[in-house]
Amino acid sequence: MKMGRCIWEGRVRLATIDEARGLACLVDSCESHGPNPLMDWVAAGGAAPTRTRVTVDLAEVRFLSPFSALRRNVFAVGKNYRAHAAEFDNSGFNATAGSASIPEHPQVFTKATTALCGPNDPIRFDPALTQSVDYEGEIAVVVGKTCHRVARKDAMGVVFGYVLLNDVTARDLQKRHSQWFLGKSLDTFCPLGPWIATRDEIRTDDCTLNTWVNGEQRQHANLGELIFDIPTLIETLSHVCTLQPGDLIATGTPVGVGIGFDPPRFLKDGDEVRISADGLGTLCNRVMATGESA
Ligand code: MG
Repeated sequence: MKMGRCIWEGRVRLATIDEARGLACLVDSCESHGPNPLMDWVAAGGAAPTRTRVTVDLAEVRFLSPFSALRRNVFAVGKNYRAHAAEFDNSGFNATAGSASIPEHPQVFTKATTALCGPNDPIRFDPALTQSVDYEGEIAVVVGKTCHRVARKDAMGVVFGYVLLNDVTARDLQKRHSQWFLGKSLDTFCPLGPWIATRDEIRTDDCTLNTWVNGEQRQHANLGELIFDIPTLIETLSHVCTLQPGDLIATGTPVGVGIGFDPPRFLKDGDEVRISADGLGTLCNRVMATGESA
């Protein structure tokens, strides 16, 4: 099942998505009263809605972030595709360069909850703060259960589903502070959506992700190419901290980001970043360079 949160006729609604037919099936509002209904839906195990009212064309709805808020930081993984690991180390923006290009263990960082934005919202940045904003199209795991010390063999059992995420990054901040949290956590630097697909909908060994900037293809990869696969990421994280329903784990970025070019091609005002993956729809965010007072 694919479930999203969208605006239709001026109201926020939940919808199941029939991607093949291009339809959104709007769920009765009785089932969406909470302030964070898809977080509640994930925590409750993702039952199919029993009351649907109206089926509309996908083009008639505007998707919002599936979660209206995050309960805690997004977990994210650095250097989890081989070609991107080399691209990053060669860019001059890796403050920890000198470590092995292919990590021996997952490199985990987090993004602030307040970075969250919708699948069609603008990515905003203040040019006085950063001059090197970059995209990272990624597939994120949505955790479905409270769990601790999950063994690799059991890890897929705690996966609720998957969602597209853009791990937008201010490269200058990422480098200057030698730690990734600041450069990854600017407001609007975590576009999410347009919907959550339950785990049965996605083949993790064959799910292709593509990213375009202004229509030019930049990233093309398959989730099956991860250095550390999803069970390894869940095992690693859950041995340190308890995972909770609704936690997001961004699995890593494929080669093709702006710092991979010489000279780097950073995002600028007016650019459009479009990210798609099999079964997960499309994120399409326009970039707005805007001062704090704008
Ligand atoms: Mg990333």
